[in-house]
Amino acid sequence: MLGRFAPSPTGEAHPGTLLSALLVWLDARSRGARALLRIEDLDITRVRLGWSDQLVEACRWLGLDWDEVVIQSREADAHDEALDKLARAGRLYPCECSRAQRSGGRRAPDGGWAYPNTCRPRPLPSGGWRATNEALRVRLPDDRVDLVDLGGLDLSQTPAVDMGDPVVRRKDGVIAYHLAVVVDDGASGVTDVVRGRDIAPSTATQVLLQRLLGLPTPRYRHHFLLLEPTGGDKLAKLHGSIPWSRLRLHHDGPMLCGLLAYAAGLRPAPHPITPRELLATFDWQRVSPVDRIARWNAERGLAIE
Ligand code: GLU
Repeated sequence: MLGRFAPSPTGEAHPGTLLSALLVWLDARSRGARALLRIEDLDITRVRLGWSDQLVEACRWLGLDWDEVVIQSREADAHDEALDKLARAGRLYPCECSRAQRSGGRRAPDGGWAYPNTCRPRPLPSGGWRATNEALRVRLPDDRVDLVDLGGLDLSQTPAVDMGDPVVRRKDGVIAYHLAVVVDDGASGVTDVVRGRDIAPSTATQVLLQRLLGLPTPRYRHHFLLLEPTGGDKLAKLHGSIPWSRLRLHHDGPMLCGLLAYAAGLRPAPHPITPRELLATFDWQRVSPVDRIARWNAERGLAIE
């Protein structure tokens, strides 16, 4: 059994990042599973080296240890092999649609627009997928994916219609999230994926990609999110509102762990505790499904409501 935490270093770690890391770690360790940290650093337009190192350090500070650390950008050969395989199966096509052409039409379950598979009839150039600078998409089978995650969240979809064919290589050459995540989970032998509920609508697409690549489907569980105080948005690295560099000035690892455990419903009060101490009573039945608001106070630090 292998669980994994797969953050993208596109900003400083924040309380939501650490909540996810903690839940992945508790899930794995409470079942005697191994735990992997994978730094998803493919998006060269958004990633900074310092943020990768900081993610590793922030996890250690919280009291989490990993059996293995994988840097996704070092797995480029595996990503290219997957593209070769999809091309050989006749599944890959170039897409020249602009953002405007991709907007409108049908709403996707993730809140964006479903891609209407406009470029499907376009063949790859005679030199293969490496010979084009356009984005590459995968023609998904029209299958409906029936899937309920371990927390009871219904993830069933017909991804080819509900989301549309996914981009697997962007036009700037970056391997897209859906492909990288599926290939790397498969290569590492990940059996259990625990991640935030914001990614849940992507799961069915990823299941179809696993099937096309002959990879097993792991067990999935999606947890509640920490939200911004205004607007109900997910706390995101983008907003940079509660970066770890500020958090650590007000809190130490056990204090933050206590706050997160309280927010998750695992503790009756936000008292300091270590992840290892939480293991004894960890049980998903007790983890609340309700999103919580994270608020920053200049004097008292983080509060989770
Ligand atoms: N790297 C993705 C993110 O930080 C998560 C990938 C996953 O858990 O599947 O949003």
